[in-house]
Amino acid sequence: MRKILLAGNWKMYKGIKETEIFIKELKEEIDEEIFEKSDIAICPPFTSLYIASNLLKDSKIFLGAQNVFYEKEGAYTGEISPKMLKEIGVKYVIVGHSERREIGKEDDEMIAKKVKAVIDEDMIPILCVGEKLEEREKGIEKEIVEKQIISGLKFLTQRDEFVIAYEPVWAIGTGKTATPEIAGEMQGFIREKIGEIFGKDKAEKTRILYGGSIKPENIEELIKHPEIDGGLIGGASLKKESFLSIIKNSIRSLK
Ligand code: PEP
Repeated sequence: MRKILLAGNWKMYKGIKETEIFIKELKEEIDEEIFEKSDIAICPPFTSLYIASNLLKDSKIFLGAQNVFYEKEGAYTGEISPKMLKEIGVKYVIVGHSERREIGKEDDEMIAKKVKAVIDEDMIPILCVGEKLEEREKGIEKEIVEKQIISGLKFLTQRDEFVIAYEPVWAIGTGKTATPEIAGEMQGFIREKIGEIFGKDKAEKTRILYGGSIKPENIEELIKHPEIDGGLIGGASLKKESFLSIIKNSIRSLK
């Protein structure tokens, strides 16, 4: 059985002080039962990673980063290498988030290189895929997601561990969550594609998260869907109370 993963994507929120307060409080409230049933990760902005890393040293909460560059080092002003992330204890790296595809103009080729670079430093990429509203309206959502999957994974082998986050762009930060049926159908499709690339066994072991306006009120029905192995949570991961409720409600739905 796949262990669920609940990862908070803080986006460009929380400097050092807020990160410190959040982590100290969260640590006090997460118990062993939660860690047995779910992996938990938080993905603060770059400048807060170091303090987060220090505070998480004695915890089972994993540290994630929101982006990375694909080169090891060099004249790449403003970029951060996979090795730098590894050095401060990062385990998961979000790659290809729709905000980076859209605002940062990251294309499939760059995303594929980033995914591979994360793997090469023994970290786990969370590859984000998902269609825009107009693409779903045109009925081409599967075509779009298939292309993102095939391209994003093209430098990997069957041995590499990766996580996929299906994040329909129309659901991110909009309050419009995909129904478990819509998310589950696409996630089943993604699993099929992973099976075609790496074999059925690998597909069965790979965690596919849903992301897009997850809240404490909708996480239970999402997690109950057999294709949904956890969530990438943006806005609702910024408040300790709502992140914790999402974690607790997820665990409850596994019972
Ligand atoms: C995200 O940032 O990946 C995300 C899903 O955001 P939100 O939960 O706010 O929709």
